[in-house]
Amino acid sequence: IDSVGGVGSVGDGGSVGGGAGGSYGSGSISGIMSNEGCSRQNSVSQGLREWHIPYDELDKGQVIGHGRFGTVYSGNWHGQVAIKELHMEHGNDQCTLEAFKREVSTFRKTRHQNLVLFMGACMKLPRLAIITSLCKGSTLYKHIHILKDKFTLSVTINIAQQVAQGMGYLHAKGIVHKDLKTKNIFYENGKVVITDFGLVNLTRLCRNARVGSWLSIPAGWLCYLSPELMRSLQASSPQPAALPHTTWTDVYAYGTVWFELLCNEWPHKGLPPEAIIWQVGRGIKPSLAHLQASRDVKDILMECWAYKPEDRPDFASLQKLLDKLPKKKLARSPSHPIHLSRSAEC
Ligand code: ADP
Ligand code: MG
Repeated sequence: IDSVGGVGSVGDGGSVGGGAGGSYGSGSISGIMSNEGCSRQNSVSQGLREWHIPYDELDKGQVIGHGRFGTVYSGNWHGQVAIKELHMEHGNDQCTLEAFKREVSTFRKTRHQNLVLFMGACMKLPRLAIITSLCKGSTLYKHIHILKDKFTLSVTINIAQQVAQGMGYLHAKGIVHKDLKTKNIFYENGKVVITDFGLVNLTRLCRNARVGSWLSIPAGWLCYLSPELMRSLQASSPQPAALPHTTWTDVYAYGTVWFELLCNEWPHKGLPPEAIIWQVGRGIKPSLAHLQASRDVKDILMECWAYKPEDRPDFASLQKLLDKLPKKKLARSPSHPIHLSRSAEC
């Protein structure tokens, strides 16, 4: 569960800027709730009608956790499901509803084995919720940072390939994930499932994402932001517009996932958020001192973290690069003990 706000280094939550509660300034929610958006409501509503799930049809079970959007429950609706119930800031606002529907409509276009299955949404105020398949395994975040599982290199590469497949599909469909992180990637019985694509804009509608007029920075979030996003974070404070996510910023975030898989830790470990924003924005990459891996493995990381967005590979190229990696042994000096070949398979 993300801790929000508070001072700490990356991975422990963090805060930046001079805002109340140690947060960076948020933009208004005007982008997501614009008049223009409201006027498109009819077409959005009609397309989504078949995806509406009446709230009282849901058999709500236990709380799984809390995130930026609200609370996630396990539940039953024609089988086991995850219910993501939003804590909306403007609980009864028709415009909020339309903004919600617009964001949710991204989901229904997706059918891929590495993406969570969207089943529908409760779209009647004041209860707004997204219903997806229930992921049974643990997130990569939990495997790596909590359970301290060590994947073999072949498992690591396989996970990275599955993530690249799901992401490649999303991009082919014109969907930018905007919140790719190990907390949004489940891993169960060898299968990867990516969640929460295209939902990040909803955070601006949600109560607990905001501290006064400031948005809080969730734990670990900064590590996934590309240089151009970092710069816009700096430039737009205290009133930034929505961050300009692109397919390339997704690739940068994928690089961070690759780093976590390889190193079993966060990049920029121990650095305060301000330093991360400053360094990444200027093109200073995280240290790879602890990563003793073959050149090819590091090259993938460096390409994903390229300073210029257009120098980053797309997911089709990434899959090819991953395919070429030696799965068993790394080309390394025997004198270098290495994280990458540690044993446990999950
Ligand atoms: P975050 O992604 O920042 O952890 P979320 O609101 O997405 O925040 O999730 C809150 C909690 O619910 C997390 O523990 C997450 O792993 C869990 N969760 C989210 N979606 C699902 C799902 N489809 N199946 C099972 N657990 C889920
Ligand atoms: Mg999530």
